[in-house]
Amino acid sequence: MEKNTPRTVPKSITNCQSASLEPYKFIIQNLKFKITIGWLYPKLMSTYGDRGNILYFSRRALLRDIDTNIVAIDQSVDAEKMKEIDFFFGGGSQDIEQEIVMRDLMGKKAEKLKLKIEEGTPALFVCGSPQIMGNSYEPGMGKKIKGIGIFDIESVHPGLHVSRCIGNTVGEIITQNIGAHLSDSLIVGFENHGGRSYLGNRVKPFAKVIKGYGNNGNDGYEGMVYKNAIGCYYHGPFLPKNPEIADFLITRIIEVKYKQKITLQSLEDVYEKKARDFLFKRFKI
Ligand code: GLN
Repeated sequence: MEKNTPRTVPKSITNCQSASLEPYKFIIQNLKFKITIGWLYPKLMSTYGDRGNILYFSRRALLRDIDTNIVAIDQSVDAEKMKEIDFFFGGGSQDIEQEIVMRDLMGKKAEKLKLKIEEGTPALFVCGSPQIMGNSYEPGMGKKIKGIGIFDIESVHPGLHVSRCIGNTVGEIITQNIGAHLSDSLIVGFENHGGRSYLGNRVKPFAKVIKGYGNNGNDGYEGMVYKNAIGCYYHGPFLPKNPEIADFLITRIIEVKYKQKITLQSLEDVYEKKARDFLFKRFKI
């Protein structure tokens, strides 16, 4: 293109877009259920493709005629925004970002978020997120960060000289509340964390480790569950590799918001199954 020539969109493309978008808009406005997703600090907490969880969740909901609306919960919003949220998602982040996030979240926002979780709002927190949703996180360098206390866990980074927990992972869900709703209790993912988390009495382990390190490389547990909030070390993105968890969350969210039990139409999940089988084969599971 020549310098200073304004870029114009060919007429054929604009026509084609408006022709295909109109019926789509009509469908969206008439959907019976709507889920508002509160995405915690998207710019600071989204490592290793964690944002794929949001895209996948929305797509999977829409395929079942459920509309989604994504709201960033970050420095730009007021604590009152939490009230609108039907599902919270928080991705991973590095130690320095966790500290920045907590500076904003602590106080009114944290109180409202905690209240929502107490009321049963479903949530998925990955890696760096559960660490700050716990009681405290001690980073590899610098001061201990006080967490929100949703999960009764303590997380400690043993120091920058100690190896990180990195690699592909397989686990088996042991939380009855979730496992009972799934046809396959195995979960797959990818972990990369320096911090080690230790569970207290007021939280349940999400899964047991089959391959990988899990919460701390010692006690054989992966992740944690409190009410309808799940924390895990599985990046990945986690939901596309574990579509049954995405569906579990969708049904639970509708149940909590609309007080209605729904059965989701099943999907083929061709690529999801391939991704899982690939890992199972590699690990001889
Ligand atoms: N800062 C945390 C750790 O290294 C979290 C890392 C992450 O979210 N991947 O343990």
